[in-house]
Amino acid sequence: MRSIWYMGEKMRVLVTGGAGYIGSHTCVELLAEGHDICIVDSFCNASPEVINRLEEITAVRPEVHRVDVRDRAKMMAVMARYKPEAVIHFAGLKAVGESSQIPLNYYDVNVQGTVVLLEAMQAVGCQHIVFSSSATVYGTPHYLPYDEAHPCAPSNVYGHTKHMAEQVLSDWQRANPESAVVLLRYFNPVGAHSSGRIGEDPEGPPNNLMPFVAQVAVGQRERLAVFGDDYDTPDGTGVRDYIHVTDLALAHLGALAHAKKGSGTDTFNIGTGAGYSVLEMIHAFSKASGREIAYTVAPRREGDLPSYYADPSKARAVLGWAAQRGIAEICDSTWAWQSQNPTGYKP
Ligand code: NAD
Ligand code: UDP
Repeated sequence: MRSIWYMGEKMRVLVTGGAGYIGSHTCVELLAEGHDICIVDSFCNASPEVINRLEEITAVRPEVHRVDVRDRAKMMAVMARYKPEAVIHFAGLKAVGESSQIPLNYYDVNVQGTVVLLEAMQAVGCQHIVFSSSATVYGTPHYLPYDEAHPCAPSNVYGHTKHMAEQVLSDWQRANPESAVVLLRYFNPVGAHSSGRIGEDPEGPPNNLMPFVAQVAVGQRERLAVFGDDYDTPDGTGVRDYIHVTDLALAHLGALAHAKKGSGTDTFNIGTGAGYSVLEMIHAFSKASGREIAYTVAPRREGDLPSYYADPSKARAVLGWAAQRGIAEICDSTWAWQSQNPTGYKP
């Protein structure tokens, strides 16, 4: 499907947070399509080793600036030097639990960081931006699957910051009618590049299911706690829409092409449309790795929803994008990454 997104037009794309988990996988796909990229990352949640791995995979060493997106002077300088045609904005803080402990940091980075980025774009006349939003903006489902028209009522600080950043972006677009904003609401990004050279490398105990499962499989952690088995779901455990990070990365190419075609703000769910339970994910991972995943059932985690998944039909119809990789590929690639890099990017 990739060829239908590629419009034959190579772009200069500035990628904030390009050294992070989703950003690095997107950089691989951007480079594979022949785009020129410039990464801006503070490396507050990324390793410089990622850049070496990107070069290994793509044979291109991208331009990188160690800059905080909130630093107006430095952002202006990078923009003036690189003059991007488009920006993909991944840089942000993403831990739901932490967001309620240090809310001001989350508003500062996720909302104010977006404001400063737009100011810097405006200064050089850059009109196109793709933004990493989250299914968290929807809050408690009124119906499932969530479509893009579902009301937004985030139930945690992180979700509020993402929803506010969406608002900032669409208000900026309205004031700049020639500009184009694409808001991508990701469901649950998982998996790793097929080479096993880049993947998710959380600092400390992972908050998310799949990196935790992978660390149990490789022997870094003893057992997984399954947060609740008494939900109203087929096996009692939580259900989510897990999307392979390479499929997610490819959605950004579709979004860029869409942004270049016209003006306005457009929002897309980026998920598979299928929900899998925690136990289904454990079993699939066990199969892929050939390892038993020890787990115990623990109480529900505060704030968790029982079940949610995407209606991704708008992305298919408008962007020509649909997820191509299933649970087996998700687990195989996660295992390739985790088994080859048991301590992540750390030596
Ligand atoms: P990540 O932490 O791996 O990547 C974020 C990157 O941004 C990191 O490289 C980090 O160093 C950088 N960064 C953070 N603050 C910065 C700042 N102030 N200035 C410059 N760089 C900064 O996270 P990820 O999983 O790759 O997520 C990327 C984006 O997608 C985030 O905006 C996140 O909120 C969003 N998102 C992630 C998920 C998920 O489950 N991973 C789901 C929905 C949305
Ligand atoms: N989960 C779990 N144990 C963990 C981490 C997560 O049982 O150590 C469950 C969680 O309750 C949810 C699913 O796995 O049902 C996905 O959780 P994750 O944190 O990965 O994503 P999110 O809750 O943000 O959708």
